[in-house]
Amino acid sequence: MRCPNCKSKNVGKIGGNLFFCRECFCEIKVKGDKFIIKLYDQEGRIKKVQYVI
Ligand SMILES: [Zn+2]
Repeated sequence: MRCPNCKSKNVGKIGGNLFFCRECFCEIKVKGDKFIIKLYDQEGRIKKVQYVI
């Protein structure tokens, strides 16, 4: 799969429906036909949560 945030293919699976993009350091959760993207800052805090349909 591709990262819905930065379109990179550098995405690894970390759980059943959880993926992690190594390019933009976001966590991607697949929920039905939607993506929930969590972007983290350098301290590991959630910077932004985004919903992509
Ligand atoms: Zn990305």
